[in-house]
Amino acid sequence: MQHTVMIIEDEEAIALMLRYNLEKEGYNVIVESRGSKALAEVERNHPSVILLDWMLPEISGVEICKLIRSKPDIKTIPIIMLTAKGEEEDKVKGLTAGADDYVTKPFSVPELMARVKTQLRHAPEPSSEKELVFEDIRMDMVEKKVFRGDNYIHLGPTEFRLLKMLIETPGKVFSREYLLKNVWGDNIYVESRTVDVHIRRLRRALNDYGPDYIRTVRATGYSIDVNPQSEE
Ligand code: CA
Repeated sequence: MQHTVMIIEDEEAIALMLRYNLEKEGYNVIVESRGSKALAEVERNHPSVILLDWMLPEISGVEICKLIRSKPDIKTIPIIMLTAKGEEEDKVKGLTAGADDYVTKPFSVPELMARVKTQLRHAPEPSSEKELVFEDIRMDMVEKKVFRGDNYIHLGPTEFRLLKMLIETPGKVFSREYLLKNVWGDNIYVESRTVDVHIRRLRRALNDYGPDYIRTVRATGYSIDVNPQSEE
């Protein structure tokens, strides 16, 4: 599978030039010019590497970088920051915000391509997992949609991540603390009761169309199981 490179850049000429060169290297390329949409697009597309412009309208590249680093499901995606010449201070800020590398404009295309390649060396192969299935529950990981039998199940993003975590390892009991850390992230303060609230929503959404496979393990947490013996 091809790696996807996401370019977050509002200067069209630069975005086009990058797209052209990255596609020539065989990458799948996505361009987003609006800072305000960038985070949602990263979550939706899950690129292998992100080229992130420093100066964006509405929200800065550094802010976007910090936001990406605070989201459990996207925080490990390598980020290369692109910035104007001679701003050493920016470099420090960018790296502090969690960027993996830093390229100064105007940059040399072969050098940037080499840096993209370096970041991809550490990146996992793009997941061929297009679908996660548990009994009659099917998660379409490309479209980010959930079905139970033939029925489309509308889930919020948190419920989607919760279900993904449970379905990836059926039978495993996940503690509330683990779920908080891995579904909500380190940087967000939420009480462990929040997990219960979202599990309840997830159950309500799924159970219209079949038995309750989510198991509550008292004082511990939750799992997904074919023989749910809910202790609640
Ligand atoms: Ca810019």
